[in-house]
Amino acid sequence: MPRRRFQVRGVVQGVGFRPAVYRLALARSLTGVVWNHAQGVTVEAQGTEAKLADFERALREEIPAPARIQSLVVEAMAEVPGEADFRIRVSGQGEAPRPVVPPDLALCEACAAEVDTPAERRHRYPFTNCTRCGPRYTIIEGLPYDRPRTAMKAFPLCPDCAREYADPLDRRFHAQPMACPACGPRLALQAGDGTVRAEGEAALAAAAEALGQGAVLALKGLGGYQLLVDATSAEAVDRLRQRKRREAKPFAVMFPDRTSLLRDCEASPEEDAWLASPEAPILLLRRRSGGAVVAAVAPGNPRLGAFLPNTPLHRLLLASAGRPLVCTSGNLSDEPMAFEDDEARRRLGSLADLFLGHDRPITRPVDDSVLRVDIDGPTMLRRARGFAPLAVPLGLGGPCVLALGAHQKNTVALLKGGELVMSQHLGDLTSLEGSDLLARTVTDLLAFFGARPELLACDLHPDYASTRLAERLAAEWQVPLVRVQHHHAHGAACAAEHGLTGPVLALTWDGTGLGSDGTLWGGEALRLEGAACTRLGHLKPFPLPGGAAAVKQPRRSAAGLLWAVRGAGAPPSALADAFDGAEWAQLQSLLAGGFNSPLTSSLGRLFDAVAALAGLHARGGFEGQAAMALEFAAGERVEAPYGWDFRDGSADPAPLVEGVLADLAAGRDAGFIAARFHAALAELALAWAQQAGLPDVLLSGGCFQNALLTARVQEKLAGAGFRIHRHRAFPPNDGGISLGQAAVAGLTTAGR
Ligand SMILES: [Zn+2]
Ligand SMILES: [Zn+2]
Repeated sequence: MPRRRFQVRGVVQGVGFRPAVYRLALARSLTGVVWNHAQGVTVEAQGTEAKLADFERALREEIPAPARIQSLVVEAMAEVPGEADFRIRVSGQGEAPRPVVPPDLALCEACAAEVDTPAERRHRYPFTNCTRCGPRYTIIEGLPYDRPRTAMKAFPLCPDCAREYADPLDRRFHAQPMACPACGPRLALQAGDGTVRAEGEAALAAAAEALGQGAVLALKGLGGYQLLVDATSAEAVDRLRQRKRREAKPFAVMFPDRTSLLRDCEASPEEDAWLASPEAPILLLRRRSGGAVVAAVAPGNPRLGAFLPNTPLHRLLLASAGRPLVCTSGNLSDEPMAFEDDEARRRLGSLADLFLGHDRPITRPVDDSVLRVDIDGPTMLRRARGFAPLAVPLGLGGPCVLALGAHQKNTVALLKGGELVMSQHLGDLTSLEGSDLLARTVTDLLAFFGARPELLACDLHPDYASTRLAERLAAEWQVPLVRVQHHHAHGAACAAEHGLTGPVLALTWDGTGLGSDGTLWGGEALRLEGAACTRLGHLKPFPLPGGAAAVKQPRRSAAGLLWAVRGAGAPPSALADAFDGAEWAQLQSLLAGGFNSPLTSSLGRLFDAVAALAGLHARGGFEGQAAMALEFAAGERVEAPYGWDFRDGSADPAPLVEGVLADLAAGRDAGFIAARFHAALAELALAWAQQAGLPDVLLSGGCFQNALLTARVQEKLAGAGFRIHRHRAFPPNDGGISLGQAAVAGLTTAGR
């Protein structure tokens, strides 16, 4: 009998791959063995040529999601005489398995069908899962990944579940988080003071009814508490905004099913596939007019963050509520999401009317991921549930590096053995809770991946909580610390994602990050080669009166920019409404004295300034709101670009500012100005690309979350023959900084 060895690599551990292989082998009467090891999974199978060929085909074609084969190598072997059966070799025998920390997976079709079927024993059970779906990273306490080291250890399997768990032909063979109504977690609806109002099915019904009456519900979701309200009620949405102190920032909406989602949003086939994927991220979809979701959910925004139920609990609740629900992280703005029961009641007590929870602990907070599909593919905006902490092979060799990331949208990255593991999105580090979460996540990642960093990396900014933790750990572990300039890290992240070591041009257009000259950078043209970074071009710096305060008040950026272009003077009529009597004079004196007015070359602040001049959110809102409004105002309009004054690599926006003021004086609208501004930025990209003369151009930084800017720059550069690379699997915003820091640190020691 012929025998073959199949070496499989990809997403093949912790996702029910071995049982699936077992079933394929059994169905073809093959004998042999399958096991996990450091590099993936190996199968040895023995049988007739025809059966083996069909088995190979089935391996490639029939393995169910979420397993994904990246490579399959087949080789012939000598027959093993007298082999009687096909076995799954349990981990722990033979070669030590590589640590696998699987991401959480959305409810699979088979489990959804069980939940919906009255005759099934898991009918309407909110914690149904199997090897293809359910919680993973959010319940794992230690490795190897086995039930006693998960939050499910408190739930011994009932005889029925135990039988499924032990049966290699069952979908729940070795499904660590599996449960049923007889042995698993239970649902309870509680008031803010912890009083139980209802349990089980009654809890679900009462929660759905309260939502229908406009209540704010705190739901213990997969990776943390979420706040839910009726998305079709302006009053309910307003109540949530007031309590959460979140004025205008868009909320995500969960729809009961695909049909109801399509009434409010458009979805391309690619977007449709993402909605139904095991990662089930929030997708920024184009809104349809006349949908059920009220405008206040995402004011002034042509897109809506939409997603489908990713757990049976969400599925049942949304079906009972019978309407789309706002589904947002359970926190006060700038704090991380609450995930422990006591903490949630303490922190969300004043926000929520009721708590729908259960007795399955959440081991660590993992937010929903956010993604947008652009013309040329997906753009990751927040990388969390479904993606973290999957290791990504990036071909970055060298020492083991731990990079602690930026200050906002923080993530942590671990580089080990050529692979990169990025933590889930941790968010803002301003609060105590935020920096605690960072420290916990570092401990987590190092333990899970058995890593002992030989090198640490952080931002140049001395005051970031991530920098301070890096300094402390470097001293404690006696390892070198590499400080990577913020925009260098942005560019390096994009380069690493595409396997480029340079020389390349990185256009890093961003909010603000500390530059190597002590000013605030953010509109940069950087030449990257190995670990080296040269600043080829930048926006001509202008002062930011009030420093950090300018981030939330676009009118301050406008005042600083006007000061740089025109010097002291009265406010132009465009800004007259944005300042009360004394305020303008106050800023002028700050600027004149150079007091608390740091210089910046930030393109994000230029966006703010132009938006304020155009009458969009001059006084403020959430960070990025004015820039987004400018993007939306431009729509699809194509207008002639504003000009620039180029001198020694610095791009002076004076002609642009004069152009904006002239257009305003001529009574032009914000859409016209926005379109000319975006066109001007595409010209800036082209000028810098031609000056650098390098064929590969990378786009990184928060400004490239702007789909219109990205598209305009891409068109312009591609038309001139440049190869454009932008972020795919990792965010262009500060969520990608840890990756860039790790890459630069790795390259530094490799002497490149
Ligand atoms: Zn399932
Ligand atoms: Zn059970």
